[in-house]
Amino acid sequence: MDKISVVVPCYNEEEALPVYYKEMCRVMDEMKDVVFELIFVDDGSSDATLGIMKDLNEKDSRCRYLSFSRNFGKEAAIYAGLKASEGDYVALMDVDLQDPPTLLPEMYEILQEDGYDNVATKRVTRTGEPHIRSFLSESFYKFVNAISKTEIVDGARDYRLMKRKMVQAVLEMSEYNRFSKGIFGWVGFRTKWLQYDNIERSAGKTKWSMWKLFKYSVEGITGFSVAPLSLASVVGVLFCVLSFIMIAVIVVRTLVWGDPVSGWPSLACIIFMVSGVQLLCTGIVGEYLSKTYLETKKRPIFILKDSSDDKEQKHERT
Ligand code: UDP
Ligand code: MG
Repeated sequence: MDKISVVVPCYNEEEALPVYYKEMCRVMDEMKDVVFELIFVDDGSSDATLGIMKDLNEKDSRCRYLSFSRNFGKEAAIYAGLKASEGDYVALMDVDLQDPPTLLPEMYEILQEDGYDNVATKRVTRTGEPHIRSFLSESFYKFVNAISKTEIVDGARDYRLMKRKMVQAVLEMSEYNRFSKGIFGWVGFRTKWLQYDNIERSAGKTKWSMWKLFKYSVEGITGFSVAPLSLASVVGVLFCVLSFIMIAVIVVRTLVWGDPVSGWPSLACIIFMVSGVQLLCTGIVGEYLSKTYLETKKRPIFILKDSSDDKEQKHERT
């Protein structure tokens, strides 16, 4: 019998978790020919999330949990869950039911037949999201795909079902600065895309502020493209050419018409612009440098405080 591990990152999800479990139970009952394992990853929640996970683990042996020592972010939670998973197939799912568990049977069936290695999902609408947010997201995807060789799909959700060998490939990418959407594209494999309309959260609130999304997009750009690093060289060459032309123009003009001292406002503008570009380029270099710095430290991606596996080991010992 095949085993499916479902990895579910949770950060302060006391409201959504019970609803999710109920829904998931229905799907698991439906798929009788598969064994399930639900891996709940508590990403340093400060509410009752961990308690609920422990209860679920007590009453349903299919439920496992991992708990982080603090909030390490969803990417770290995904990594930890994948690492702990044992199934032949691994699904990634949000706990807020924005990734409908009812799609799982269909995803499993596709992997059985068509020679695909994973089934991914994307939403084709963004209903219920502020317009400005949708606009910024779309611009980000256009930009990052223009400058990166790795395809990063617009509207792709993290919800997917993968075969073991793909999970292994993802785990081998043990970088500290993780951007899953890029990592899944980078490892390759045959992907079948399922589409659905955006579904609003079942309960609780989104954890993504505009600032967090901005930082996430910087992660995506620096993680999968080095094109911004060339900006300094390109703009530098452009400005050099421009300055030669300007010098020529000024010399000729002075020789022909004489030199009334004027034009300091334009000078001020030029100084502002050039120093702005310089700072921007230094900033970009700094961004990459800081990522490299963090990578070389080889810090762990997450730190476990508690897990259902610890508990089992303790039981075995006593
Ligand atoms: N999440 C997490 N750590 C975080 C933020 C979010 O594990 O630091 C989890 C969260 O509990 C949820 C999933 O990631 O299961 C998606 O988060 P959310 O629904 O807030 O994001 P959105 O759907 O709005 O993009
Ligand atoms: Mg959500």
